[in-house]
Amino acid sequence: MSWFKRPNSNFQPEDGEPNGDSDQDFGAESTFAPVSDDGEPARVRTEGLWVKCPGCRTILFKAELEANQHVCAKCNYHFKIGARQRIDLLLDPGYTIVDGNLRSTDPLNFTDIKSYKSRLVAAQKNTGLNDALVTALGKLGSHDVVLAAMEYTFIGGSMGAVVGELIARAIDRSLASGHPLVIVSASGGARMMEGVVSLMQLAKIATGLAQLDEARIPYICVLTDPTTGGITASFAMLGDLNVAEPGALIGFAGPRVIEQTIRQKLPEGFQRSEFLLEHGFLDAVVNRSDLKAYLSRALDFLATPA
Ligand SMILES: [Zn+2]
Repeated sequence: MSWFKRPNSNFQPEDGEPNGDSDQDFGAESTFAPVSDDGEPARVRTEGLWVKCPGCRTILFKAELEANQHVCAKCNYHFKIGARQRIDLLLDPGYTIVDGNLRSTDPLNFTDIKSYKSRLVAAQKNTGLNDALVTALGKLGSHDVVLAAMEYTFIGGSMGAVVGELIARAIDRSLASGHPLVIVSASGGARMMEGVVSLMQLAKIATGLAQLDEARIPYICVLTDPTTGGITASFAMLGDLNVAEPGALIGFAGPRVIEQTIRQKLPEGFQRSEFLLEHGFLDAVVNRSDLKAYLSRALDFLATPA
């Protein structure tokens, strides 16, 4: 018995596409009704088994997609992945998660249509994380590294005081140990609900990264879909090496805002990794499957004392 019943059985989808146009989960529950041995209709749940690729519109089997590191085998579309999956992909087994206990105190006591406190509670429940960044210490190939990965599903991967503090601490760990720092960004920008407190993180992090530079410790930025706003404007573009995954949206203001401001149509592929590489904003665009080997090789060069 389905939990959902449509009251009007004459309903026809207007756009002629029965499954809607959802970019992510194609997995609305559907039920087949073959008859089982005991004569009762047997129902097979197919919820969440299939995903529609936003790149090529192919319906992909979720298990196959996961086995392929969440990259479409047909068109190389890179799906968003979470912070912990990212750490699993990049670090050897046996890494340590650190600084996971920091929580936002809601410094402005902020409320829009919902209170910021309730948004935090919901995000913490959904992700199992305390905020939008996870830091891990471990081995990337032959190199000891400090790796910080952002979690986009936690309030859009936005940066408030906690994300700022976590990055500052990751930088301190790099400074103390001499191990290179790698930050994987996935963020909509500064966290509105923390207002000026959020913006202050930009200066705090940039100061720390300058110290890392003076100490000649390598810092690599990995930009993933999407990296925008105050994140692009600060630490995501300050690496000794700035690399991105294919097709990632990377920019400061959104394309619509820019078009309205300059009153011009933007070129095809504007603010995507490949366009930015072509125009000198990035050093490389690297497939997810090659990323670990690429970073390891880059660290061979960067971390070798002159
Ligand atoms: Zn695809």
